[in-house]
Amino acid sequence: MSSISEQILQLKDSLPSGVSLLAVSKFHPVSAIKEAYQSGQRLFAESHALELVEKHEALPKDIEWHFIGHLQTNKVKYVVPIVSLIHSADSIRVLKEINKQSQKVGKVTACLLQVKVAQEDTKYGFSFSDCYQMLKSGDWHEWENIRFKGLMCMSSNVSDKEQIEREFEQARLFFQEIKNDFFKDEEDFKVCSWGMSGDYPLALLHGSNMVRIGSYIFGERHN
Ligand SMILES: *Cc1c(COP(=O)(O)O)cnc(C)c1O
Repeated sequence: MSSISEQILQLKDSLPSGVSLLAVSKFHPVSAIKEAYQSGQRLFAESHALELVEKHEALPKDIEWHFIGHLQTNKVKYVVPIVSLIHSADSIRVLKEINKQSQKVGKVTACLLQVKVAQEDTKYGFSFSDCYQMLKSGDWHEWENIRFKGLMCMSSNVSDKEQIEREFEQARLFFQEIKNDFFKDEEDFKVCSWGMSGDYPLALLHGSNMVRIGSYIFGERHN
């Protein structure tokens, strides 16, 4: 058995039931994804639009592709027809474009709202207050080709576990707040996408039910 499939099987064994494993295959070749596929993995994530398009073409069509990278508006049209979930909806501008492109292809695109919990300036995402205001305004009800399914966040890239836990906990609480205020009757608003190779055990302590794992499965990226 390849080490990629060993990592996947080991992860699947260790994750609590109800937690989805998203294999982050960005910068890894099609051959590596095939190995993961052979071990039964069907959920994969990419963070660059054109790389996603190429891999989607090259690989089996029962793969469920998620998009997790910052999405420029001019790339939305490539991503929308392919993906089953966009994790990185991080501005009103990109949401409007996702809605428009989804309308064009007659699709309702599932999206997570990316919120910024990290201290670093480099991480994209809505602030909690901007996200709340956006939902409160109600404008999003007009985006008929978008369905919100939950939240996504990335913790700060630090070794301080308490800080990371605090950030995930803030995301968990914010999820509960908006679930209660805006999505109470929507069963499908339930995805909490947090946790990567370095911090997923901490994310699981704070409400995560979808972990996005790259290097732990595929090894180091050469980007
Ligand atoms: C690259 C990436 C991951 C996976 O990172 P690893 O540390 O390799 O597990 C998860 N989420 C996002 C948004 C990413 O860009």
